[in-house]
Amino acid sequence: MSNPRIAILGFAIESNRFAPVSTRADFVDRAYLAGSALLADARAAAPAMTPEIPAFVRRMDANGPWTPVPILFANAESGGPVDHAFFMETLAIFERGLRAALPLDAVYICEHGAAITTEEDDPDGLVFERVRSIVGSSVPVVATIDLHANVSDRMVDAVDTLVSYRRNPHTDMAERGTEAAEILIELMHGARFCVAHVRMPVCAPPTQLLTAPGTGPYADMIRQAEALDDPRIVNVSVVGGFAFGDTPKNGLTVIVSTRGDAGFARQTAEALVMPAWIGRAAFTPELTSVDEAVALARAAGEDHALPPVLLADVADNPGGGGRGNTPFLLQALLRAGVRDAVLGVVTDPQLSAQAHALGVGAEFTAHFNRGERTAYSEAFSAPATVLRLHSGQGVGRRGQLAGCSFNLGPSALLRVGGVQVVVITNRHQCHEPVFFEMFGIDIAAAHTVVVKSRGHFRAAFDEFFGPEQIFSVDAPGLTSPVLSSFDFRRLPRPVVPLDTMTEWTPHIRLLS
Ligand SMILES: [Zn+2]
Repeated sequence: MSNPRIAILGFAIESNRFAPVSTRADFVDRAYLAGSALLADARAAAPAMTPEIPAFVRRMDANGPWTPVPILFANAESGGPVDHAFFMETLAIFERGLRAALPLDAVYICEHGAAITTEEDDPDGLVFERVRSIVGSSVPVVATIDLHANVSDRMVDAVDTLVSYRRNPHTDMAERGTEAAEILIELMHGARFCVAHVRMPVCAPPTQLLTAPGTGPYADMIRQAEALDDPRIVNVSVVGGFAFGDTPKNGLTVIVSTRGDAGFARQTAEALVMPAWIGRAAFTPELTSVDEAVALARAAGEDHALPPVLLADVADNPGGGGRGNTPFLLQALLRAGVRDAVLGVVTDPQLSAQAHALGVGAEFTAHFNRGERTAYSEAFSAPATVLRLHSGQGVGRRGQLAGCSFNLGPSALLRVGGVQVVVITNRHQCHEPVFFEMFGIDIAAAHTVVVKSRGHFRAAFDEFFGPEQIFSVDAPGLTSPVLSSFDFRRLPRPVVPLDTMTEWTPHIRLLS
């Protein structure tokens, strides 16, 4: 096929059922790129979008002449259910764009896979289904999804191949974009695949889905899948899921795509899920209490012979829908008189604006969470000094955000007691050392670092902290790994680790 016409689109958000509604503004703040703007960002030196589409475009460019048909890529920080009317408008843009571009030779969908809307539990499935119905059954469609996607049957059925991330922290987004291009090229040459799909009754808290070797049964599944060395394998995706989506399609999912061998696809899927089922006790998290965390921080601040500690405020992770503003850890550190600590990033537009209005050196009473009235975002006040101010714009240097541009909005570094606190305007998880370094903070000199992030910080703060120096703290919040504290209504039950289960027989769907 010469000069193939390939459409590119995607609706990428991870929705936390318990967080406030995500709106158009949340997408516009991050990436809402249509037509030529999509392609220009994909080819930019420091794109605003995640790395899959830029890598896809590079791989297709290297393959020879092609005609990209960029339709729309919409991406937001993880948040609550998406405003349904906005989602339907976006879906209509996809549909109009695809119809106007026909005939197409292939479609690449760059999705997260854990969206919900205020009215729909499977908007990703709806996108995939509409794409298929418009382009027809013979046009190759490949989608990349996040490792935290909640995969519906509809999603699997509507595309030729699903390709999920394999790394958590997600350091392989570009590789997966490249892989999607290579699979589409094979499909455009006439290949057709046979797929096995199985969903486990497992909704693990995000802290139990790390992929570094030795971190648990999920990491073992990923290693086992990657060790498969068989020319029949096209892709094996082991999708951890996102418990806070609270949908009937939740559940750790394996999708095996093979070159036309149904029996082998089924056997491979079964061999992956059974060891994880046997090891399911490891999906229950072990956390550090706030009191223990404060004791560690106080000791690190007083005895500089002790190694520094990193406390992860996993329950207030904006990357999982948290608001990035719960006060519990900061208040506990202040009460204990902890010294030499840095904490970030706290989303508080009003406080940041006040610091900018007062200027560097100002001493004032910082009123946290004056504007926010959501669960866990409790207001409190403390004497503070403005140390530094920043526009909040920059480029990431390490981990998931390396080489990508970011915009935290007007930001400020405050001194509050013995803690330096970074306050930002645009909600963002703290998984990039530059968020501290842009204020002149030397992370290596801090004795305690507190990040509002669940796990993605590990790919960047590993420069400063080994795994034994990192503690996931059990504070309250919208992304607490203690799943029993949530009022789940739509998860399939029984499910591990919320329920005790002894029996399970895998039901493997085969598609060819
Ligand atoms: Zn993810």
